[in-house]
Amino acid sequence: MNTDVWKVDKDVDNLENNPQVVDAANFLRKNEVVALPTETVYGLGGNAENDEAVAKIFAAKGRPGDNPLIIHIADRKQLSRFVTEVPETAEKLMDAFWPGPLTIIFKKKDGILSEKATAGLNTVAVRMPDHPVALALLKTCGLPIAAPSANSSGKPSPTKAEHVLDDLKGKIAGVVDGGATGVGVESTVIDCTAATPVILRPGGVTKEQLEEVVGIVEEDSALKDQSARPKAPGMKYQHYAPNAPLYMVAGPKEFLQTLVTEKEAEGLRVGVLTTEENHHFYEANLVLSCGRRAELDTVAASLYDTLRSFNQGQVDIIFSEIFPNEGVGHAIMNRLEKAAGHKLITE
Ligand code: AMP
Ligand code: MG
Repeated sequence: MNTDVWKVDKDVDNLENNPQVVDAANFLRKNEVVALPTETVYGLGGNAENDEAVAKIFAAKGRPGDNPLIIHIADRKQLSRFVTEVPETAEKLMDAFWPGPLTIIFKKKDGILSEKATAGLNTVAVRMPDHPVALALLKTCGLPIAAPSANSSGKPSPTKAEHVLDDLKGKIAGVVDGGATGVGVESTVIDCTAATPVILRPGGVTKEQLEEVVGIVEEDSALKDQSARPKAPGMKYQHYAPNAPLYMVAGPKEFLQTLVTEKEAEGLRVGVLTTEENHHFYEANLVLSCGRRAELDTVAASLYDTLRSFNQGQVDIIFSEIFPNEGVGHAIMNRLEKAAGHKLITE
């Protein structure tokens, strides 16, 4: 299949009538799948009401069928078509964070959305992305769009159109290239179907920010306890892994360097995932910085790009620094733990 690339400048006016956006929207209406930029990562979009379109998303990614998709909308009025009720907590959260990196789980109306998109659940995950190109595309096609991250399942999520092409070229109708994404980690997923909202996946909006708006917010116990069964089906899968095994290292940078030296003595090519503050300290085959430790937003923004860059560097093993598990650091550590398959070396 030919994969089109539609370059769109996100800062121009009247994006809804932009010929590239209109072209991409027409593919979505014909139930083809198209990758699009959002403020978190690139998504792989398809008509959420059409089984055939949704099946194409799962096939292109190689995504397990029991992992439901997030439905993207441009207008809150679209909710009533496929959601039974909008609880007050959800109203408050939408007022505060939409458009933005917050996905809300609602009770689902039967018979509208593709059952494949919701993996047969009686709930549905919905978000309104805060990206002018995504919003223009959603408005122009007029459909609810199911969109998981636009990577092959298991790989780091794409934060640039090139990442999408690396994984999915030839498998999808096209990519709307709107430049690099902003937040860099996926949306926070919050379940609002019970009295107290529960975070199922940490992400771009922090627990502290959510609690300021709706009071107490719980966290799915599976986020702390690896043996618990996660409420978001997708959280049980390995994700974000670079090609070489990745180990998180707790302790001072001198300790991490000792591990590097040991592995090099065994003849392995070693990669180090670090930050700008510590970049010059390490001696290894490939030392890559994923942002500034003092500004964790920069780490979130380039974590996936950096994980992907190790694949070009041909290393046999990667050691990574770890980050404070609070604020956006909570989402960063959640992704890093998955990328490392929870392998942690402590001094
Ligand atoms: P992704 O599309 O890769 O960003 O992943 C979406 C995340 O939302 C996955 O972890 C899904 O399992 C989760 N999710 C989607 N729909 C639901 C739902 N109805 N209930 C719980 N989790 C969901
Ligand atoms: Mg994903």
